Amino acid sequence: MSATMTTPAYPEPTLTSTNAPLIEGWRRGELMLQHCKACSAIIFFPRHLCPQCWSVDLEWKRSSGRGKIAGYSHVYSQVTPPFAAEAPTILAEIVLDDGGAMLARVISDAPLAIATGMRVELLPTPDATRFPLPTFRPAK
Ligand SMILES: [Zn+2]
Repeated sequence: MSATMTTPAYPEPTLTSTNAPLIEGWRRGELMLQHCKACSAIIFFPRHLCPQCWSVDLEWKRSSGRGKIAGYSHVYSQVTPPFAAEAPTILAEIVLDDGGAMLARVISDAPLAIATGMRVELLPTPDATRFPLPTFRPAK
């Protein structure tokens, strides 16, 4: 990852009361996901109510950050300079081992080797600190 340390900064997400636990958790190197206390749904992206049952009784729990790729896309066309310099970037749907699924970027030195079913894990610090949103890598 050190080869890309000189690229411009990524755009920062806007912190809201709804997404702050996710963003602030990621800044600590943790993946935090919403859980619905009424129906047990695991929710991504952050919302103020459960998309399954509309309950507002939600809580945040830490995820292991380990899972596998359910689907992915290589993105070559970008409008923001840091992404363009790193194309192709990988955007994947990741099914987490401890429940839930999310869209996230996967960082790999071999982006064309990414495949459906590949095991991934949360990018650890210090590499993680470059990325403003939870980011994964192929599992070691
Ligand atoms: Zn629910």
